[in-house]
Amino acid sequence: MREYVNQILTKLKETESHNQKFIESVTDVLTSVIPYLEQNPYLKQQAILERITEPERVIIFRVPWIDDNGKIQVNRGYRVEFNSAIGPFKGGTRFHKDVTLDTFKFLGFEQTFKNALSSLNIGGGKGGADFDPHGKSDMEVMRFCQSYMSELFRHIGDRTDIPAGDIGVGEREIGYLFGMYKKLANRFDGALSGKGLEFGGSFCRIQATGYGAVYFAEKMLNSHNDSLRGKTVAVSGAGNVAFHVIQKLYEYGAIPVTCSDSKGFIYDDNGINLQILTKLKKENHESLVKYVEHRKYAKYTPKEKYHKTRNDIWNVPVDIVMPSATENEINLNDAKIIVKNGTKYVIECSNMPSTSDAIRYFLDNNIIFAPSKAVNAGGVVTSVYEMNQNATFEPLSFEQLDNKLKEEMKKIYIDISLTAKEYGFDDNLLIGANIHGFKKVSTAMIKEGII
Ligand code: NAP
Repeated sequence: MREYVNQILTKLKETESHNQKFIESVTDVLTSVIPYLEQNPYLKQQAILERITEPERVIIFRVPWIDDNGKIQVNRGYRVEFNSAIGPFKGGTRFHKDVTLDTFKFLGFEQTFKNALSSLNIGGGKGGADFDPHGKSDMEVMRFCQSYMSELFRHIGDRTDIPAGDIGVGEREIGYLFGMYKKLANRFDGALSGKGLEFGGSFCRIQATGYGAVYFAEKMLNSHNDSLRGKTVAVSGAGNVAFHVIQKLYEYGAIPVTCSDSKGFIYDDNGINLQILTKLKKENHESLVKYVEHRKYAKYTPKEKYHKTRNDIWNVPVDIVMPSATENEINLNDAKIIVKNGTKYVIECSNMPSTSDAIRYFLDNNIIFAPSKAVNAGGVVTSVYEMNQNATFEPLSFEQLDNKLKEEMKKIYIDISLTAKEYGFDDNLLIGANIHGFKKVSTAMIKEGII
């Protein structure tokens, strides 16, 4: 079966040479599932790897809009509907200047297996645009969102494809996107999740990814006779996920000592102050450099001062590392520093933050490693609760949803650690998660026939 996997990867490297992140995530999943393929040789006759690595549909479209100076701007929009074997396509929307088709293929592929880890029926998709929301006025963001939706609305629906937010797409953007969807589709339904509470949004959705990551972390530490209490934690990012990771870590008695944005990072050994973070990033959309104006003893390091091939936030010696900004933010050099500093746990909250060689290094050096597709599944899980509430018109309370989220995250941890053990990989949660997700998606695909 290793030969079968290698043959698929070799072909992919030829045909997808522009899509390096996609190749990286496919390599990661396919090499992990070899033991499962060996147990189920009929999967090869079913060409399962050829089929599972090919998106069902890719939509690329023009997004023209007019800026505040009356100038016409054009961006490129994407939606990769990767796999609907176990449910309608579901996954976030990212607005970031650097995205390409590679970004959405890799994120859609990862999302397929992440969604399969939950006990819910959701397929995988991802989309967005190379639009940079930094420095844009509210009206520019609104005009962009309306133009983006004027094409996307015909491809999505509450039983077809349900986009949510991601980097650069928060409640404001989802509001504008939903408004336009409702007008064009003439339907008020759950075709988008992450909506405002006043128009079908769900309690706990905004918090869900960050809180879910911490619930997962506590369960994982408990199963190693440990807990978050008193642990120092390096968190990267200062957006939705990072903020709620930090908030929940405090509730569990941990001390998050770092955060970062695209320009630099803060080290505050007394613990990151959430009030300052809210003011700077959520309310004023400012750089973290201003954090030190409020906390004189905290240290700000701008990106230009980072070592050439490293992300200096990982120099800070801590018990736990929780990357929560973006992909590939921990490379092999960073991994070596993290190990050298005596860190015990690496818990991935952003999507694919560690490169493959960094992950290998962690696993070879006794770091207990939790992969993003399991850790950050709380967001999508709560999105499905939002869809349920939209379908039944019956909202649930914050406490009900938070409890459901906690139980789901514990269950994901138990399922993937049991799968890892079943296949002889003890604490390798990466293999556990990949086999668990792959098993569910591939079984559904086989049962649904060659389509
Ligand atoms: P967000 O609110 O837009 O925040 C992203 C943060 O990362 C910001 O602080 C941003 O800095 C920083 N950042 C972006 N690009 C960066 C780069 N190249 N280098 C360093 N920092 C960078 O996004 P989010 O929703 O928190 O998402 C964070 C991660 O979690 C992403 O990987 C996303 O795919 C994943 N995720 C999110 C959800 C969800 O529910 N939101 C669910 C599952 C997974 P600036 O402030 O300077 O822009």
